Amino acid sequence: MPNQRIGEQKARVIVIGAGIGGLTTGALLARRGYDVLMLDAAIVPGGCASTFKRKGFTFDVGATQVAGLEPGGIHHRIFTELGIDLPPATPCDPACAVYLPGESTPINVWRDPQKWQQERQRQFPGSETFWKLLANLFKASWKFQGRDPVLPPRNLWDLLQITQAVRPSTFITIPYTLFTVGDALRFCGLANDHRLRTFLDLQLKLYSQVNAEETALLYAATALGVSQEPQGLYHLQGSMQVLSDRLVATLERDGGKLLMGHSVESIKVDRGQATGVVIRNQKTGEVWTETADHVVANVTVQDLVKLLGDQVPHGYQRRVKKLPPASGAFVIYLGVDASAIPPDCPPHLQFMYDAHKPIGENNSLFVSVSHPGDGRAPEGKATIIASSFVDTEPWWETEDYQGLKYQYTEDAISRLAQFFHLQPETIIYQEAATPLTFARFTARNKGIVGGIGQRLSTFGPFGFANRTPIKDLWLVGDSTHPGEGTAGVSYSALTVVRQIENTRTT
Ligand SMILES: Cc1cc2nc3c(=O)[nH]c(=O)nc-3n(C[C@H](O)[C@H](O)[C@H](O)COP(=O)(O)OP(=O)(O)OC[C@H]3O[C@@H](n4cnc5c(N)ncnc54)[C@H](O)[C@@H]3O)c2cc1C
Repeated sequence: MPNQRIGEQKARVIVIGAGIGGLTTGALLARRGYDVLMLDAAIVPGGCASTFKRKGFTFDVGATQVAGLEPGGIHHRIFTELGIDLPPATPCDPACAVYLPGESTPINVWRDPQKWQQERQRQFPGSETFWKLLANLFKASWKFQGRDPVLPPRNLWDLLQITQAVRPSTFITIPYTLFTVGDALRFCGLANDHRLRTFLDLQLKLYSQVNAEETALLYAATALGVSQEPQGLYHLQGSMQVLSDRLVATLERDGGKLLMGHSVESIKVDRGQATGVVIRNQKTGEVWTETADHVVANVTVQDLVKLLGDQVPHGYQRRVKKLPPASGAFVIYLGVDASAIPPDCPPHLQFMYDAHKPIGENNSLFVSVSHPGDGRAPEGKATIIASSFVDTEPWWETEDYQGLKYQYTEDAISRLAQFFHLQPETIIYQEAATPLTFARFTARNKGIVGGIGQRLSTFGPFGFANRTPIKDLWLVGDSTHPGEGTAGVSYSALTVVRQIENTRTT
């Protein structure tokens, strides 16, 4: 077992949360010889990337597509270190079929770079300078990220990791650090290309929470670049749960422990240093304190502040309070007869409805469709999962929660019926999740999903660090660099593991 010296007392690490970020941290630390205790309030591990089963259907709760499975990709690297196989997966091609308002032919984001280049040249004539710029920035940023920089840096060691990740090719990104996608469109003379902007708004909202005008260009270059080979998006065979299940198996194989149904109520801090956590067993109501050398919080930064209570440094609390509101999601899960799915249906589709309304106002759907034999539906049936972005506040403030949920469900089904053959006889099962559902089942503050947003003020060098202002307390997950997604949170896990290892050697 690497890094575990004979006779050396194992450092004890408590990980709060068994989402992909927490599980990856826990599994890597256990593999590297740490004594790991993981706690999760839910009954199933995986958080936003877990699943639930109903009437023979398996539904992915949130995440449905995965990046980073290719050789050198982050999941591939981590599974190689853990000595386990990656779950079988099918490449998504197209990665997404995007339907703009009023259009019946999609923009297909093909996996093959040449095919995607031809598609976008046809769809958005005159925009190739913009795409070339994105491609160059993606190439440089991807290589930089692959050399494991620590962003944002909080001490000399972190800074050293950044310096070691920089190569002459990285310098091309520097002038664009303060560019948004909107700036880049203007720079390339495309400020008035409304169709291109709408497409970018739609795609970027999925990854960055904000539209093209606000999304940091360097983040967008990566988010839009990963869909093509040699990277690419994948659909996992079975369900998203296989990712968590494999991480749990290696955690336990290497001596780590995971307690589900156990919530952490607070983090103990003594003279600026994390010393342990207060745990509640949800079944028995028993409450006790566990001590540790390190505490890793796989929670939103807003929840981290809550867990710290009055021990949170004022500056940190102020910064969290000032964050723009994060998105919630409304998700509808349908179990259908296979006849509801049009022939050759792509695995992922995106629809925008009203050209005059912002995307975030229940005006778009991101849809994931199972394919025969992928383990999500019995033979002759399929699953359709459709999500839209919503403000969380109305869901918490309404006096008629069931009425609002019903309205959103009806809207979503009638919109989906424009593409799928949805009739009472083809819909076998339906269920919906709102911000209240996400708050309840993933313990995320107000049910916010997908991190803090990738605006200039919150992305990469300007985001929240994994190293918190409290010694031996680490933040992992989609509130930190490089942001949301199972691949993103796995990078943040790797960073925290390296940082913890470094405290052992210095
Ligand atoms: C609708 C939707 C669609 C998405 N689609 C995709 C996609 O296709 N591809 C993709 O890569 N990503 C997608 N994402 C984003 C992705 O799912 C998340 O960014 C990622 O899974 C977050 O992982 P995490 O480890 O940071 O946190 P989480 O998944 O939120 O996990 C945190 C865990 O911590 C536990 N927890 C929290 N507080 C406590 C506490 N106090 N005590 C004990 N346990 C606690 C929770 O129960 C949870 O299990 C999607 C998200 C949503 C909501």
